Amino acid sequence: MSTECTGKLILERADRRLIDCKKCGYMHIFPMYTEEELEHFYENVYSESTPSYIWYEKFHNIQRWKPQGTVLDIGCWEGAQLEIFKEHGWKCTGIELNKKAAATATTRGLEVHQLSIQEFFKKFRGARRWDVINVAYILEHIPKPADFLKKIGAFLKKGGFIIVEVPNEFSPFQIAYLKEHSMSPYWIKLPDHVNYFNKRGLENLMKSTGWKKIHGHTSFPMEMFLLMGDNYLKDNKLGRRSFRKVVEMERILRLYKTGLVSRMYSALYHCGIGRSLVIYAQKKKMR
Ligand SMILES: [Zn+2]
Repeated sequence: MSTECTGKLILERADRRLIDCKKCGYMHIFPMYTEEELEHFYENVYSESTPSYIWYEKFHNIQRWKPQGTVLDIGCWEGAQLEIFKEHGWKCTGIELNKKAAATATTRGLEVHQLSIQEFFKKFRGARRWDVINVAYILEHIPKPADFLKKIGAFLKKGGFIIVEVPNEFSPFQIAYLKEHSMSPYWIKLPDHVNYFNKRGLENLMKSTGWKKIHGHTSFPMEMFLLMGDNYLKDNKLGRRSFRKVVEMERILRLYKTGLVSRMYSALYHCGIGRSLVIYAQKKKMR
């Protein structure tokens, strides 16, 4: 992110533009907010709960390469993802900026540090390393995701894995819905989300920051409900009901056949379809 950032203008909101940046390889707001502006926003205002089904999916997937070890969850919120690792004997650490969420995670018996990402880098650099680092719903919020991805590698043990998850925006289903209803993108939230990733953008960012993708999958494309006429954008209750339907469907499929849900979401990843994108990656070997 710099003054050299330039690319196709997607939309304008107040004093900000959303561009498909040629230099960065993904869509972001320009001019960017400062880190101070954003940290203040998250520390005090922000509150959102992440869907639960994907927590199991990530845990089961990572076991294919790493059956047990240490895990760091950056932005662990109330610790629900870590708790799944903890139940299976992993040693868990969390970083969470939001005071209330960090306190809740601590009451679950987890090692959680109430720190910003920059404070975390300062405090733990050279001091600790983990086998797996989960970075869920972080990259869309921070002004310099490339810097973050370059730095975080130093906190992984040799052969360790990073799991990156972001909302999948400007997906084919979302665009089809917008076109049908002549709408502008309803998922643009400022200053909450400052970067917007689709499959191409996230893969560009991972590659340019020295990461090799091992595996990718998505989560259920919630936009399917919109396309089928259930407008959860205007009705929170409907949104929660739609989400419960997905959880129930996944429960039945999981009981029927292990790996079926995983294979479905891996296939959808290749089409760029799904509510979120998840990439498992390792550091590229230096030549
Ligand atoms: Zn840029």
